[in-house]
Amino acid sequence: MENAGHNVSERKNLIGLSRAELAAEMAAFGEKPFRVKQLWHWIYFRGVTDFADMTTLSKPLRARLAEHYCLDRPHVARHQVSEDKTQKWLLKVADGHLIESVHIPEEDRGALCMSSQVGCTLTCTFCHTGTQRLVRNLTPGEIVGQFMLARDSMGEWPSPTGDARQLSNIVMMGMGEPLYNFENVKLALQIVMDEEGISLSRRRITLSTSGVVPMMQRCGEELRVDLAVSLHAVTDDIRTQLVPLNRKYPIAELLEACRRYPGANNARRITFEYVMLKDVNDSDADARALVRLLKGIPAKVNLIPFNPWPGAPFECSSNNRIHAFSRIVNDGGLSAPVRRPRGRDILAACGQLKSDTVKKRKSELLREQAAATA
Ligand code: SAH
Ligand code: SF4
Repeated sequence: MENAGHNVSERKNLIGLSRAELAAEMAAFGEKPFRVKQLWHWIYFRGVTDFADMTTLSKPLRARLAEHYCLDRPHVARHQVSEDKTQKWLLKVADGHLIESVHIPEEDRGALCMSSQVGCTLTCTFCHTGTQRLVRNLTPGEIVGQFMLARDSMGEWPSPTGDARQLSNIVMMGMGEPLYNFENVKLALQIVMDEEGISLSRRRITLSTSGVVPMMQRCGEELRVDLAVSLHAVTDDIRTQLVPLNRKYPIAELLEACRRYPGANNARRITFEYVMLKDVNDSDADARALVRLLKGIPAKVNLIPFNPWPGAPFECSSNNRIHAFSRIVNDGGLSAPVRRPRGRDILAACGQLKSDTVKKRKSELLREQAAATA
């Protein structure tokens, strides 16, 4: 069976515990509260993966910790580097599920696009992830683990305060709907933002939602990260075809929640993502309607050329069309850059994420089920 090769360990992973949980764990372990600060520093500032390297702790304590605990990152099933240097990690989490994270490098910085769920329940018709059946929420450790693994891989521990990092930003735009897994996403991002550890500023974090209206307020109040909203259409009719969740939370309600989003202002605008689909949502009239719709909201628009995947029922709008659309939105007073597709050759671009190994997984599951019921 798939997991048989895994070293079944009784050791508990400390990655992903909140400070309070780590404190409770250490108390139960018979250690004083100040250990939490020390451990936090080694785990999240220095990024060590081995207790033996925690040189401010006594050797016996290091050994005892190593007996009971581990600092495991998700297991890398495959690592690919695109022609444009975008990197994609296919990661295997504890129970054998596969998720993906993608690093998108820029000149002097870079963003890690992280997953929040295995798959996604939301079946947006243009999104590859939405066609994946297997879905479960990722744990806080699996979410923060994606960041830690990428930082391991880029050799960016320990945390200097400098800006010249390849991994300087996080976008919650990988697999899954982060606001359907809010508690775990929140715990993970709180760890990432903790000032004695990774200490990434909330201004370097953007969370993208397909429009889970009831959770948006809490996201703004409790996490205070930047928000991106997957709008994609200007009428409920078309949006419902693209993002079925629109039936539940139609455009007017979604935009109302955006108007109320805590902390949004002209200096911190909400990004409206708009995927460019040929003959579906890309007309001049659509562009003008978009400008009207976003009036009064501190907004910017991000035009995403549709990234194709095998069997996708859409085509990407032509370059000319996309630029004409962008110009109209710009003339309407909104910034509307066209997102450059990255990592297309390794299916790492927006909406292409879906472990190709998932089919194998499914057949394996069927076999396992058959074996179990035989
Ligand atoms: N579930 C969240 C975040 C993950 S999707 C959301 O939907 O916002 C991240 C972004 O990629 C979303 O804006 C999504 O609409 C977009 N996207 C999905 N599939 C795409 C595709 N095939 N081409 C271009 N963008 C896509
Ligand atoms: Fe889920 Fe976002 Fe893809 Fe829609 S676009 S299926 S919400 S991951």
